Amino acid sequence: MSESTIKKTYTCIICPNGCDIEAEIKDGEILSITGHTCPKGEAYVHQELTAPTRTIAPSVLVTGGELPLASVRLTKPIPKDMIFPVMDEIKKLTITAPVCEGTVVLEKVCGLDSEVIITKNVKAK
Ligand code: SF4
Repeated sequence: MSESTIKKTYTCIICPNGCDIEAEIKDGEILSITGHTCPKGEAYVHQELTAPTRTIAPSVLVTGGELPLASVRLTKPIPKDMIFPVMDEIKKLTITAPVCEGTVVLEKVCGLDSEVIITKNVKAK
């Protein structure tokens, strides 16, 4: 390994095996990915190195409900650097009870290919 080669290690989160995977990168180019025991692990590390994505599961404010908040989730992971803009959009939301699980409350949030949907029913007071 030359001096400009960077080594990064990951714990694969795709399945409970949690394989330790190592990647070598030089000048922004992936030289190798090793340690995975299936192709999904290699794809996971490749994605982390090139276009990392994350998902979030925050809550939104509910008015007139038995509970003040309803949990939501994204339908697809989003680029890691869009987490804060998406959180800002979700924080602006206030929905009125009754709230039904599965309801889309934000379509294509921040222009991304992901929806924000309710994951908890909240009855009206
Ligand atoms: S590399 Fe494959 S077997 Fe290992 S944790 Fe990832 S998905 Fe599971």
